[in-house]
Amino acid sequence: MEYYGAKYGNTIVAVPPNYTSQNCSNCGEVVKKSLSVRTHVSLHCSYTEV
Ligand SMILES: [Zn+2]
Repeated sequence: MEYYGAKYGNTIVAVPPNYTSQNCSNCGEVVKKSLSVRTHVSLHCSYTEV
């Protein structure tokens, strides 16, 4: 499920309700993140946060 948004790049068509938004600590852009996944990867700068 964590690849769902990433395959569309910046064009995220739909986000499952169990996803949340978090601002990337590197570039400040909003990153969609699954509650079940502790890491998030910024689609904007590829920054990975654990
Ligand atoms: Zn970023």
